[in-house]
Amino acid sequence: MPALSVVVPCLNEEGTLVELHGRLHEVAAGLGLGQGGLEVVLVDDGSTDATLDLARGLADTDPSTVVLRLSRNFGKEAAMLAGLRAATGDAVALLDGDLQHPPELLASMYTLLTTTDAEQVVARRDRAEDPFVRSVLSRLYYRLVNSLIETVRIQDGVGDFRVMSRAFLDALLALPERNRFSKGLFSWVGFPTATVSYRNVSRGEGRSAWTLRSLLNYGIDGALAFNTRPLRLLMHLGGWAVLAAVAYLVWLLVGYLLHGVTQPGYITTIAVITGLSGVQLLAVGVMGEYVGRIYQEVKARPSYLVHEVIRHEDGGSDDGTGGVG
Ligand code: UDP
Ligand code: MG
Repeated sequence: MPALSVVVPCLNEEGTLVELHGRLHEVAAGLGLGQGGLEVVLVDDGSTDATLDLARGLADTDPSTVVLRLSRNFGKEAAMLAGLRAATGDAVALLDGDLQHPPELLASMYTLLTTTDAEQVVARRDRAEDPFVRSVLSRLYYRLVNSLIETVRIQDGVGDFRVMSRAFLDALLALPERNRFSKGLFSWVGFPTATVSYRNVSRGEGRSAWTLRSLLNYGIDGALAFNTRPLRLLMHLGGWAVLAAVAYLVWLLVGYLLHGVTQPGYITTIAVITGLSGVQLLAVGVMGEYVGRIYQEVKARPSYLVHEVIRHEDGGSDDGTGGVG
């Protein structure tokens, strides 16, 4: 069993993959992990560039590298899950393939994990080099998500870059949900956690697969995945709307008793109708989100499908039958 497995989800990372692989081995050598002490799990999440070929080449020459080729692009969450399930190490690290997570930091993270009672060591990025707008936006984002979530706390600057003990990982993998919001799950699992800081590096090669829209959807996922608080917020909203309607009605009645019938309130009628329909649509939308999630969980489809597992031993590949998550 390797001492350390490093799981890397890769979508179109041809520019950084080989360098990353080399640096991981340097880190392992620095830690004195020795032969067979390191395992690198590369998950090819349906890349359309040379990533798969490069990964295959690495696995061909390096027995410590395993490549999981997913059958298509399933998204980072699914790719991470696939890699974490395949990892066999006593400690398991998770890091991005674009070198935004400096591999050298793994040395101190791994040391912390093995020498303290921490079951998880997370890397926290400082936002010194982020563009101003971006760091403000992400701060707002975390405040919003945290205000909607009760049970877990999500820290600004903390991503998926972390090293976990086997006990922690087993607990994490025992969570059966399919709609996985890792940031929340990592925190939900608990266990003693240590944090190290690092300097954020701008993306060197390729470009981020995140669009504004996918970030927004990710935020909604975060808010919905952990509780039913949005539903309760809607109940409050509905309550206030009813109160306002009653108050308005009383006001109209008093006016009627004092002055008799006055002008017909065309504008108020329209305003009330559009306002309340908006609230109703919103409520139906939020409920629909929960129903949709129930639907997905009930269908119980795997989060990803493995097409091929590529290893050194057989010098090639085998069919990923049974490699279903
Ligand atoms: N990634 C993936 N599947 C996806 C999107 C991203 O495996 O559908 C990988 C990507 O190759 C990288 C990591 O997830 O290793 C983080 O992606 P990215 O750099 O685009 O995100 P950001 O750094 O902006 O959070
Ligand atoms: Mg990145």
